[in-house]
Amino acid sequence: MDLSLFSTKSLMETAPEHDVEVRTQYKMPPDANFDQLGEPTWHFESTRSFTTVAKYAQYQAQSFQHSLKEEQEKLRATSTKQADYEPFGKRRRDDEATMPMRQLKFGTNVDLSDESKWRSQLVELAKIPAFCRIVAGCNLLTHLGHTVLGMNTVQLYMKVPGCRTPAHQENNSFASININIGPGECEWFAVPYEYWGSIRQLCAKRGVNFLKGSWWPGLDDLYEANIPVYRFTQKAGDLVYVGGGCIHWVQATGWCNNVAWNVGPVTSSQYEMALRSHEWNRLKSYKSLVPMQHLTWQIAKNLRLTNARLFEHVRQTLIRSLAYCRMVADYAESVGKQIKLHPRTKGEVAHYCNTCEIEVFNLLFVLEQNHKFIVHCVDCARRTDAQLTAFVVLQQITFEELSQIFDSCQLNPHKQGVIC
Ligand SMILES: [Zn+2]
Repeated sequence: MDLSLFSTKSLMETAPEHDVEVRTQYKMPPDANFDQLGEPTWHFESTRSFTTVAKYAQYQAQSFQHSLKEEQEKLRATSTKQADYEPFGKRRRDDEATMPMRQLKFGTNVDLSDESKWRSQLVELAKIPAFCRIVAGCNLLTHLGHTVLGMNTVQLYMKVPGCRTPAHQENNSFASININIGPGECEWFAVPYEYWGSIRQLCAKRGVNFLKGSWWPGLDDLYEANIPVYRFTQKAGDLVYVGGGCIHWVQATGWCNNVAWNVGPVTSSQYEMALRSHEWNRLKSYKSLVPMQHLTWQIAKNLRLTNARLFEHVRQTLIRSLAYCRMVADYAESVGKQIKLHPRTKGEVAHYCNTCEIEVFNLLFVLEQNHKFIVHCVDCARRTDAQLTAFVVLQQITFEELSQIFDSCQLNPHKQGVIC
């Protein structure tokens, strides 16, 4: 693969005016995270702004030039003071302790979804093996049938040394792929999915929110709690496969760009993790970027399931979803609403409640506000008006069609599953 297509030079040639989200962060020593008073903390704040590829490219290049100059000056200083090494070393540490914290800029979430603008880059990435590919039959996120920005599309990151991606799980605990374009390296920290509960407790103890907060775990705290941490270097050209639910945090040790996206292997463990995360998000009023009900019906429609455990979980979700749709429709009819059929269009995105951000599957409670049609879930609609007077109720898939999909979704243990 030709990764030079993602170098800052190529990006400049392709789309200099393209948007780049910037996170302004404080530069930390590689092993630690401090607050303004120099105390260790899990809080990791950054401020958000926007720039363009060309402007960030200029910053990245200047930062490199500046660092080169600094290194040369340091070298000169050490050679002249070599005889006096000890006091010099001590003085430097004192200087650093009193120096104001340096800031740096991280160019993040650069959207490479536009297939005409980024054609050569996307064609290059399609060379990757199917289990890592953005679009593949063996990738659950492909079966959504619509775009979820940054999940089933590519995002690019532009870094200088010290740029940090705070600790997180991917949306709905999906797996992800991350390629370091180089030339510099990144350092990764990762904790397996099984420890997410322990980490969440540590987060609460340290005053940060696991789901919504921005945090950088203290390694000593993790070791003390017997939580294993994988720590490794991602060199230029290295691909990292982040398993589903893995908690990870990353810092650049050199100047580099990265590209990343999510994948959903067709396995029971991935499906279960995603479902659990969807439920957890619901309880915490946090939006799930992957609409799991919609995805489950798509899986039932598109995939030949060969794994009994995955099949059973999918079937259970279908049953609950079908029963829920029936219940919601019955309620709407009981207050005298006529349900209007409104089939999905190709590539139509999944719907979310405008109030509580839950996925609204199949039965949409629509309110017209300022000539815009606003979707609500049944609960929020009822809270607004128990008789649903102002709402229009739309149904996207008929009960006959849902029943048909349910009936045709069978376990095929002796056949070959999706071909990767
Ligand atoms: Zn709602």
